[in-house]
Amino acid sequence: MNKQITTVAKDEKFRDSISLVDKKSGARKWIFPKKPSGSLYTGRTWFSIFLMVLLFAGPFLKWNGHPLLLLNILERKFIIFGIPFWPQDLPLFALLMLTFIVFIILFTVIFGRVWCGWACPQTIFMEMLFRKIEYWIEGDFKEQKKLKDMPWNKEKIIKKGSKHFLFFLLAVLIANTFLSYLIGVDEVAKLIQDGPLMHWGKFTSLIIFSGVFYYVFANLREIVCIVICPYGRLQGLMLDKNSIVVAYDFMRGEPRGFRKKGLEDSVGDCVDCYRCVQVCPTGIDIRNGTQLECINCTACIDECDDVMTKINKPKGLIRYASQAGIISGGVKKLSLRSIAYVSILVVLLTATIYFLVTRKDVDATILRTPGMLHQVQPDGRISNMYNFEVINKTFANHKIELKIVEPANAELKMVDREGNKFDLLEDDIVKGSFFVILPKEAIHQNNTQIKIEISSNGEHMDTKETNFVSPVQ
Ligand code: SF4
Ligand code: SF4
Repeated sequence: MNKQITTVAKDEKFRDSISLVDKKSGARKWIFPKKPSGSLYTGRTWFSIFLMVLLFAGPFLKWNGHPLLLLNILERKFIIFGIPFWPQDLPLFALLMLTFIVFIILFTVIFGRVWCGWACPQTIFMEMLFRKIEYWIEGDFKEQKKLKDMPWNKEKIIKKGSKHFLFFLLAVLIANTFLSYLIGVDEVAKLIQDGPLMHWGKFTSLIIFSGVFYYVFANLREIVCIVICPYGRLQGLMLDKNSIVVAYDFMRGEPRGFRKKGLEDSVGDCVDCYRCVQVCPTGIDIRNGTQLECINCTACIDECDDVMTKINKPKGLIRYASQAGIISGGVKKLSLRSIAYVSILVVLLTATIYFLVTRKDVDATILRTPGMLHQVQPDGRISNMYNFEVINKTFANHKIELKIVEPANAELKMVDREGNKFDLLEDDIVKGSFFVILPKEAIHQNNTQIKIEISSNGEHMDTKETNFVSPVQ
């Protein structure tokens, strides 16, 4: 325990500054991370390839001629796993978002920033695409530093120029992919075929998207994770001593230092080689303890494992572990906070599944026409006027019928069409008005409740209740 207190107290000074800022000049410190390698990096590479194939192929995946995923915010049209959603599904969306946020919090409380290291698009694009191009063209971290310090000569112009050209091409590809998720891949293809003059609005968005992506990956880089990303900034709230993070085992590693022959027992397992610091893409020293800047990329685990193998020590001096686990050497237990989040998540998941399963194919709204009183028909019966809106939430066509089921002697008469039936095409809305006409003797109170059934192809879909207003005749 004394070792822990000493280590933490000694290391707390690092929290006064962030790794991105040069302590002397106050300017941004450009980070040149060492090229990572090792089993975890290989695993992350394959997982990233899988995710990138999904992401880039996603806009082309269709179900019955419709995209599997479309998030058209401008036209308020959403398709998730082939199911169309409407702005009227907002409560369901809100519930889904809430469930997702609680899931993320729970996941972070237990497993730390696994998302950031393994699945976040920022990390995947940065480490698996842009950084790999950089290593390929400019070499490893030492060559990159040398290139930066050399004057602008032919070699530097060619290397920097080709790197940024490829960066911009990739940014355009990513921007096209994201635009495809927003407006659909067919619209993007049309934009490319017709040329920018025909769709200058969408073309401008594409240029802006491409510029932003290029700037993020060519310049901002780790600043996104450390300063801009709200999820990153909230880590301090979500993590506790039981959260599993990429952690340095200070109980085993300290006191760090060179292992002199015959005096191996006087030092810990950390040989202070700095390789874990050199490889870190956010420029931190994980031996200082859990830090906001750590995106759990696991590069330092691979690097340290290689060192441990070379000095014949067990791997895992840096590993996935909780602070409590490192101190006690025990197995992680679920904290009370985690159990509370799990309970909330189960409730939210149950509610979400219930609303998804009971979601109707056809959604109808019927409201009395505002500002209109009752009317007296030529035959002496009394009428009220109503506005209706019927939404088809599927990709199937429906033959809709509106029928009054209560009171039995009421008549429904459409204002702008013959009969009570109409076609509702796939993914469409039909709006209109109708009269409900009641004989005088059926009106016994100022507010008469009426029930209107909505059916599709003879099958009951929904029943709406509304009021019929008229003074007792
Ligand atoms: S790589 Fe391992 S041995 Fe080397 S400094 Fe980092 S923790 Fe210590
Ligand atoms: S400390 Fe390790 S896991 Fe965290 S960002 Fe740096 S290299 Fe990645």
